[in-house]
Amino acid sequence: MIHELPKLEYSYNSLEPFIDAKTMEIHYSKHHQAYVDNLNKALANYPELQNKTAEELIAEIDSIPENIKNAVKNNGGGHVNHTFFWTILKKDVQPSGEILEAISKKFGNFEKFKEEFKNAGLTQFGSGWAWLVVNPDTKEVEIVKTPNQDSPITNGKIPVLGVDVWEHAYYLKYQNKRAEYLEAFFSVINWDKVNEYFLNTK
Ligand code: MN
Repeated sequence: MIHELPKLEYSYNSLEPFIDAKTMEIHYSKHHQAYVDNLNKALANYPELQNKTAEELIAEIDSIPENIKNAVKNNGGGHVNHTFFWTILKKDVQPSGEILEAISKKFGNFEKFKEEFKNAGLTQFGSGWAWLVVNPDTKEVEIVKTPNQDSPITNGKIPVLGVDVWEHAYYLKYQNKRAEYLEAFFSVINWDKVNEYFLNTK
């Protein structure tokens, strides 16, 4: 087995009450684990692909053999997206630094960005993600959304913030109220980490 579930650097209850411990436990130990396991299964007969990182696999998805392409896209994407997601979650961190400047420049002010980001999550029909990415061509931040476990990396964009809007990410606590989950998400964004990811794109 080449790909592994990354260590979660905080406890399941760390994000309470915004994201509940049971959701975190199932999301991390069951859903994310399944993406890892299924990615490894897909690659089992492809030793030449086993030394690539999951990011590399989804960045070059068109070069993946046809009969495992969807499995790699879905499960490699799931692994990459969730590995990233866990790192940008923390309570009580305020937006600051260069990422805040870039957001203000692009969207006018933070509140406008927040509304637009929440709206992207709300209007992603079915399962998927909303993202704040850096466009390497313009060096500016952009909001994008992706269906299923598609990653912005596949489209050449660099994620600095993302929110999982699959029902498994919120249904236990929020049921059908995705908008409430998205509002709560803004209380658990690790803006220091987001700023670090943003600085890394320079
Ligand atoms: Mn998820």
